[in-house]
Amino acid sequence: MTRSVRIALARPVRKLFDYQTPESLSLTAGQRVRIPFGRQIATGVVAEVDAHPPPGITLKTVQSAYEHWPALPPETLSLLTWAANYYQHPLGECLFMAMPPPLRKGRPAERATKTHWQLIENTLANLPANAVRLKALIDWLSTQTTPRETSAITQAGFTRAQLTSLANKGLVSATDQAMPPQPSEAPFALPTLSGAQTEAFDQLPSPELGFSASLLYGITGSGKTEIYLHYLQKYLPHHQQALVLVPEINLTPQTVSRFRRYSGSDIVVWHSSLNDSERLDTWLRIREGEPVTVIGTRSAALLPFTHLGTIIVDEEHDSSYKQGEGFRYSGRDLAVYRARLNQCPIILGSATPSLESLHNARSGKYRLIKLEERAGNAQPPTIKLLDIRSRPLEGGLAAPALKAVRDCLESGQQALVFVNRRGFAPVMMCFDCGHMVECPRCDTRLTYHRKDRAMRCHHCEFQMAATEQCPQCQSHAFKPVGQGTERTEDILTQQFPDTPVIRVDRDSTQRKGSIQSILKTVNTGQPCVLVGTQMLAKGHDFPNVTLVIVVNADGGLFSVDFRAPEQLIQTLLQVSGRAGRGELAGQVIVQTCHSDHPMLRQLADGHYLPLADHMVEERATGGFPPFRAMAILRADSSTMEASIDFLDRAKELLKAQPLDVWGPLPAVIARRADRHRAQLTILCDSKSRLNRALSSLCQALESQKTSNQLRWHVDVDPLETG
Ligand code: ADP
Ligand code: ZN
Ligand code: ZN
Repeated sequence: MTRSVRIALARPVRKLFDYQTPESLSLTAGQRVRIPFGRQIATGVVAEVDAHPPPGITLKTVQSAYEHWPALPPETLSLLTWAANYYQHPLGECLFMAMPPPLRKGRPAERATKTHWQLIENTLANLPANAVRLKALIDWLSTQTTPRETSAITQAGFTRAQLTSLANKGLVSATDQAMPPQPSEAPFALPTLSGAQTEAFDQLPSPELGFSASLLYGITGSGKTEIYLHYLQKYLPHHQQALVLVPEINLTPQTVSRFRRYSGSDIVVWHSSLNDSERLDTWLRIREGEPVTVIGTRSAALLPFTHLGTIIVDEEHDSSYKQGEGFRYSGRDLAVYRARLNQCPIILGSATPSLESLHNARSGKYRLIKLEERAGNAQPPTIKLLDIRSRPLEGGLAAPALKAVRDCLESGQQALVFVNRRGFAPVMMCFDCGHMVECPRCDTRLTYHRKDRAMRCHHCEFQMAATEQCPQCQSHAFKPVGQGTERTEDILTQQFPDTPVIRVDRDSTQRKGSIQSILKTVNTGQPCVLVGTQMLAKGHDFPNVTLVIVVNADGGLFSVDFRAPEQLIQTLLQVSGRAGRGELAGQVIVQTCHSDHPMLRQLADGHYLPLADHMVEERATGGFPPFRAMAILRADSSTMEASIDFLDRAKELLKAQPLDVWGPLPAVIARRADRHRAQLTILCDSKSRLNRALSSLCQALESQKTSNQLRWHVDVDPLETG
C-alpha cells in the first residue's frame, strides 16, 4: 500500500497535488517538502496526509522534507485552511503567505545567528599598560549579566577589532546565542486603574473560562491600552504568547513604547517594514513557542503561534484590518476565529465599534463592556456644527474656525485640522470652458499637487507636470478647485507665520522616520497646527491638542455605499477624539453644509452607541450585512463588454441558488489603469450557504476558458462595495 500526501503549492489555482511518500519519510501536515514539479524541484507544503488519490494514476514521489517538524503548526494550518475556504482564495497561496519570504523560497528555517560575547576572565594582567580601550571593554563586559551581541557592543563605543583582540588573549568568548529570555519584571509599574476602568476591567472574562469575545467600547481617551496591559499582566501566564493587533504601527509608535514600558513579557513587533531576515527571525521565535507578546498589523493574525493565550484587537473597526487585494481576509475576523480554536479570550476595543461587532454584542455573542469616561481629569470634547453655506472660506476654513485656531494658539495650545484629501486641490478646472483635467487611464480627475507642481492620479501611477493654462482652450483662468491638505497648510502658514504648521498625509510621511519627527514636534507641547488626512484620526495621544477642526464633513452623507455613513461617523468621532485628552478641555468644530442632517446632529451629542444602533437597524431594514452575508465577484479586462459578459455567465451559474444577485454593473470607477471593471453583488441569508455557492462557482469559473485578458476575484465580506 503506497502512502500518499496532498501538497499545496504557491500557485493561484484551487487545487492540491497528490504525491507518494517515500518509505524513509514520515510526513505530517504543515511540513515543507521538496517535490518534483514539471522539470523543476518545487517547494510545497503538506496539506493532507493519508490522502486517497484517484486510482490508476502513478504518482511522483516527494523528494525530501526541509524540516522534520511542520513549519505551519496544526492550529495555524487549521486557521489557514478555514480562511482559504471562507475567503475563496487558493489554499497554497494562503499557506505560503503565512510563511516569511525565505521559507517560501526554500531557504532553511534557521534564525540568523548573531555572535554574542561574554567575559571569561576578568583580568587585566595580560594587557599592556596602554591598552586603555581594551580595559574599558573588559570593565563594560563585566557589568553585563548576559552575553551581548556584537552590535550592542559596538553601539557602546567599542570595535570588533578590540573584541577579537580580547578573544585571542582568551579573555572573552563568543557564542551563537544569548541566554534564553528570562521572564522579567516590567520596567515600570502600571498606572492604577481609575474607578471606571476597574469597573470595565472586572467585567472581562478570565481565560480560565476558555473562549470569550468581549467588545470593549471605550470612548476616545478612556485608557483602553491601560486595560489591555492590566489584563495581560493579571492573566497571561509566563509561558504563554499574546497577540495584539493594531491598525498601523508606524503611525502610532506610542502604543509599542507603552507596551515595552509596562509589560513584563518580551515585546516583538510585526509589520510590513521588517526586512526578510527580521521577518524570519521573529516568525521562528513565535513558531518555537517563545513566550512573546506580538504587536502587529493585520498579517500578525497569521503567525504560527503555539501557545497563544490572549488576543487583543485595538481599534477593531479600522478598515485596514481587511486586506484589499489577493487573499482578502479580515485580520480581526481571523483573530476571533483563532481565539475560538485556542479556547482563549479575545478583546476587541474601539471608541467606534464596527456595526458587525456591535451587532454581535447586542445579540449576545460578544460581551459588551462600556467605558464612558476619559482617563485622568480629561473630559470628552464638545462638538459644534458650523454651517458653511454662504460663508466665505479661506483654504477651506470659515472665519469662526480660523478665529478658533488663533485663540487656541494664543493660549499656548495645539490645533488639529482634518482634511479628507491629500494634495492641493482635488481638481484643476478652466473657468472659461469648464474643462477639468482627467486621468487618461482612469475615469477620475487628476489631483493638483502644488509642492512639486504635478497633477496626479490617486488611482493609478499616472502623473504630469501642472500647466498654467487650460490644455483645452489655453485660457489662463485655469484654477484649482476644492480642498486638499496642501492648500489648507498654505493658508494656515500665511495666517500663523510664527507657528509650526505640520502636514500629515501619505505624501509628507513617505520618508522613513518622518512620522517620528512629526510626533517629536507635537510632543514638545509647544503651540503648533497639525493639518492632515485620516492618518491623524488613528489612535494618537496628543495631550496638548485642544482644538480639532473638520474642514468638510459632508463627503459620506449621501453616498450610495451602504457602509459610508458608518465610516463617516467613525472618522469624525475618531478625529474629534484627538481633542482635549490632557488636562485642558477640548473643542471640535465640524464644518458642514448640512448642519440640520439628523446624523450630524446626533454626532454633535458625542454619543456613538445610539447612532450606531440606529445604523444597525437601517442595515436590517435594507437586508445588508451583518443581517445577510455578502460577497462581490469583480472582473476587469480591456473592454467593459468582456467584463460584463463574464459576470453574466457567472450569474447564470448561480441561478439555481437561493441568493440575491445584483448586477452585473460597472464599478463606480469603471475604468482604472485602463482596465474596465464591473461587479456582481451577491447576498444570502446564510453564511454557509453563500460559502458553498461561492466554492462551486469558483471551481466552475476556474475550469472555464476565459480570455487571458480577463481577471476576476471574489471578495467575501467586502468593505468597498463600489
Ligand atoms: P484610548 O486608547 O482609550 O483612546 P489611551 O489608552 O490612549 O486611550 O489613554 C489616554 C491617556 O490617558 C493616555 O495618555 C494614558 O496614558 C492615560 N491614562 C489612561 N489610563 C490611565 C490611568 N489609569 N492613570 C493615569 N493615566 C491614564
Ligand atoms: Zn478652458
Ligand atoms: Zn489614473
